[in-house]
Amino acid sequence: MLKTKIFALGVLQTNCYLLHTQNEALVIDPGGEPDKLIRYLKDNSLDLQIILNTHLHFDHIQGNANLAEACGARILAPEADRFLMDTEVGSGGFMDFPETPAFDFEDLSEGAHSFAGHEYHVLATPGHTPGSLSFYFPELKAVFVGDLIFHRSVGRTDFPGGDMDVLIKSVRDKIFILPQETMIYSGHGPQSSILEEKQHNPFFQDKKFI
Ligand SMILES: [Zn+2]
Repeated sequence: MLKTKIFALGVLQTNCYLLHTQNEALVIDPGGEPDKLIRYLKDNSLDLQIILNTHLHFDHIQGNANLAEACGARILAPEADRFLMDTEVGSGGFMDFPETPAFDFEDLSEGAHSFAGHEYHVLATPGHTPGSLSFYFPELKAVFVGDLIFHRSVGRTDFPGGDMDVLIKSVRDKIFILPQETMIYSGHGPQSSILEEKQHNPFFQDKKFI
């Protein structure tokens, strides 16, 4: 059985999700303050195996380097976002935001994957960034979407590679087709569900999707 622990980390209080079994863990979007994660993993005798990144914006990846180094975990992220590391939204360091500690990563392909015997699905959900991914865990009835869709809102598309039409299509074709009781865990703010967002998200109120 997988358990979920939520941390709000870094200057933008980005939601970081730690999923774990009795002794193995994965982390989604370590946005900063890696020491908090490292301490929690240690206190609970959890072996961090992988770090999954929904996309390569600085506020989701600040903790990658330190966390991977401290725990020996692999870093997985979308190759299609690699170009963002050469822009300030990836590298950070603008407007007094911290610089992103350097790290390398392996590409994370769309499709079925498994973690400690638990299946999850990587969904390509571009729009906020070209490489944006969502992670669907059927067993948890949960999808982790990064900055694709939020409680009653959607992600910005005015950063490099962003595209609102593509984002709307990703939500419609990849997220709204999941069971409607599925919980949506976003990169910022509270959780929601697919049913709630179909009914109340102002970006999807033409009723085509219900
Ligand atoms: Zn973002």
